[in-house]
Amino acid sequence: MKITLYGAAGDVTGSAYHVQTERGNVLVDCGIFQGGRDAELRSRKPPPIDYSRLDAVLLTHAHLDHTGRLPLVVKAGFNRPIYATPATIEMTSLVLHDSVKVQSYDLMRLNRKRLRTGLTAQPPLYGDEEVKKVEHLLRPIPYNESIEVAEGIRMRAVEAGHILGSVSIELSIKEKGTTKVVVFSGDLGPQGMAILKDPMPFRNANIVFLESTYGDRDHKSLKETLAEGEEIIQYAIANKGKILIPSFAIGRTQQLLYYIAASFHNERLSQFNVYVDSPMAIEATKIYLKHTELYDAEAMELLNSGHLKADLSHVKYVVTPEESMALNNVPGPMLIIAGAGMCNAGRILHHLRHNLWMPETSVVIVGYQGEGTLGRRLVEGATTITIFGEKIAVRAQIHKLGGLSAHAGQTDLLRWFDAIAPSRPTVVLSHGEDRGRIPLGQIIEQRYGIKPVLPEYGDQIEV
Ligand SMILES: [Zn+2]
Repeated sequence: MKITLYGAAGDVTGSAYHVQTERGNVLVDCGIFQGGRDAELRSRKPPPIDYSRLDAVLLTHAHLDHTGRLPLVVKAGFNRPIYATPATIEMTSLVLHDSVKVQSYDLMRLNRKRLRTGLTAQPPLYGDEEVKKVEHLLRPIPYNESIEVAEGIRMRAVEAGHILGSVSIELSIKEKGTTKVVVFSGDLGPQGMAILKDPMPFRNANIVFLESTYGDRDHKSLKETLAEGEEIIQYAIANKGKILIPSFAIGRTQQLLYYIAASFHNERLSQFNVYVDSPMAIEATKIYLKHTELYDAEAMELLNSGHLKADLSHVKYVVTPEESMALNNVPGPMLIIAGAGMCNAGRILHHLRHNLWMPETSVVIVGYQGEGTLGRRLVEGATTITIFGEKIAVRAQIHKLGGLSAHAGQTDLLRWFDAIAPSRPTVVLSHGEDRGRIPLGQIIEQRYGIKPVLPEYGDQIEV
């Protein structure tokens, strides 16, 4: 058996693992590359494999860096099943259709520039038609049950605690009379994250592909983070200010809503207006509210007691651009969650433009801010910024809340690995830059005597 990495090898995007055996052939995840100079170029091609021989695609979760190249795979001729959990299927549709929208907007601007300089217009990577073909191939899988996905290859999916529907995948592969077990951790969530159950570890494998995004550190504790968040909200309420939270639509927004609801419920905060100003986040929230079977015990308790519904009742969902603009004329205090998560596009820009110059405004950064983004400049303390060609003074308070990551920190990664370590698997550290995977690899080597493989793009691992 051979496993080839066509992404997330030395970086954190573009996940795609091609598993080839004598009889079967599957691809685990197929995401786009994000950030960095040539990301767009690398995302234009599907993994270079023979699609007429591919039996199935298996998805760990819906994030674009795990699903974004699926329409290209379909375009390349693939028309067999794509297996995913029911929640991942719904999220994948949402994510891919949104990606078509974002792409066509970006392309319009790019092509205007290209045409002006005498170049020809560039075609889109894919459109809604290819996304519909992907939707047509998506097949639901149960949790914790072994199912056959190709000749000689069985798959079992278990909770990964990262976003709704996310799983780790175990493959049992029969070849030449023996069975080998391959585990893909997928993106692992931290222990104790809101709403979702904790990641479920494995006890046995011949080879493990372990994510290493935060292999070098632990996040700030959730308790500290929430206390800090409540302080910021109290300040805003006392000063009648607006709190602006640039947030990723899937996962982060729902976590925030949950924590705010819990704070209302415990009366640590008095109720005030919360707006979700992002059509995609609103759709994702609906999917979260639908799949209550995936909630952890604490979320179930809030749900069953009716409190979650009551405490979320003052959350207002802002659908149209007109409603979004109307918020400019509503006085604070209020909290607005809007995309994009790194302030590089979306409705958050309008809110920043209208409110950044006011000292009573608070901007709360809850996620990673890529280099060169407006969010990064705010975090780094810029005193003026430019939005839509207009210079804006930054007098607002800028806060960075560290503990809301959807990824396991170093301690949680090692706890997950500790359960499988006694089976002495080969370890491949994927989905991590050197900054994350080298320190994690050193600890695994010291603690367990297993030297992990740190792969590069295109590397093939023989089992
Ligand atoms: Zn993810």
